[in-house]
Amino acid sequence: MIEILKKLPKTNCGECGELTCMAFALQVSNAKRNLTDCPFVEGENSEETSTKSVKTLEDNYGRVSAELEEKARQINFKESARSIGGHYENRDGRETIKLQLMDKIYEMRPEGLFQNSEYCKDSWTKIIVYDYLTRMGKQPLSGDWVTLGCFRNTASHVKAFHKKSEEKIAEAFNHNIDGLKLRCSQFEGREDQGKITADYVCRFNLLPRIPLYLCFWEADEEYQASCKLFLDSNAEDYIDIEYLAYLVESFVDLFIG
Ligand code: SF4
Repeated sequence: MIEILKKLPKTNCGECGELTCMAFALQVSNAKRNLTDCPFVEGENSEETSTKSVKTLEDNYGRVSAELEEKARQINFKESARSIGGHYENRDGRETIKLQLMDKIYEMRPEGLFQNSEYCKDSWTKIIVYDYLTRMGKQPLSGDWVTLGCFRNTASHVKAFHKKSEEKIAEAFNHNIDGLKLRCSQFEGREDQGKITADYVCRFNLLPRIPLYLCFWEADEEYQASCKLFLDSNAEDYIDIEYLAYLVESFVDLFIG
């Protein structure tokens, strides 16, 4: 945390949504915020420092994913698969859980997470999947749509989340709702009538029990297009909400290409 703090301007300006740079550094060290959420890191640092920052982030992800892997290997596979909507298999006493994360299929084995029979080396992916598996969400999805800011302790994320996800989609598909619809179908999105009145609403499953609802309002002569992303109000039972914010942002990056 101290190493991360050294890279911040320490002005406690609050732009990142945290009250102090130290609070932000603590979140980054726990792999719950991204260093780039501080708008002053990139511009103020030399290339060498930026490289070190990325290295520090990777170290954090590696440490957190190793801790979660330890927990995930101890779970009851059958019970976890049932709770999180994974596919459980037991072949000659060897248990596995298959599940889809965004557009890829992963397999949880007693040794850890695999993709296409290769051990998954991406720490971020492992953090998301291990957290999802170990939480073993109990509450059924409520069907109530809420924004990220409705969950506890997310105030600091809302601004960055809006900028990195909702604004990006609105800008990318401004005056191009047909392009948006095409992209949604390429990502296996299902058009949804939804609970919100919008020009277009689409549902995606980021994980089997983590739906994401995209609502889009077309541009007109007066206003630019706008977008709002909604989650199920019980999503927190299935995944740490800060990891979920990352997951949505990554999905948007992939979606926009
Ligand atoms: S935006 Fe950067 S400088 Fe401002 S409080 Fe957050 S971490 Fe500190």
